[in-house]
Amino acid sequence: PPIKHCRNCGIAVVYRVPDDGDTKFRAVCPSCHTIHYENPLIVVGTIPVLDQQVLLCKRNIEPRHGMWTLPAGFMELNETATQGAARETVEEAGAEFDIGDLFSLASVARVGQVHMFYRAQLLSDQFDPGTETMEARLFAEDDIPWSEIAFRTVSETLKRYFADRRAGHFSIHVFDIA
Ligand code: ZN
Repeated sequence: PPIKHCRNCGIAVVYRVPDDGDTKFRAVCPSCHTIHYENPLIVVGTIPVLDQQVLLCKRNIEPRHGMWTLPAGFMELNETATQGAARETVEEAGAEFDIGDLFSLASVARVGQVHMFYRAQLLSDQFDPGTETMEARLFAEDDIPWSEIAFRTVSETLKRYFADRRAGHFSIHVFDIA
């Protein structure tokens, strides 16, 4: 959402190109001249796997309430991307796991987000999902509810994960969601 008021002094901002050689419209304070830069948000999550099955979470929150997703959420300050992915997996699924390598990095320029998913090896099939999740359960590839996946970055990550597993080799996948 656009910035309405200066975070420094509270005056209503104006959107204009700053005078400092910038080329983009920014929220500029006409009083204290603070320039408010808006940058993409990073979403971090995991692909938790046990044997041949992948853990998905049924969302108990908007957006996409009732649809399935890999455990993921916005990265917090003062944590690494890997720590954020692990934290979200604990919060949303209550899973026990070892986190592995980065698997996918997807830019969603339209909404100003970058999504990163790490592979994770589940240590148990017992889950204790938090309030953001209605249900956490394991799916074999053939049972993935493709039409009920909440986000394109998740379905595109899962497709690439299963393709790599069939090929017997995992690599890092970088792609854009148009
Ligand atoms: Zn100001």
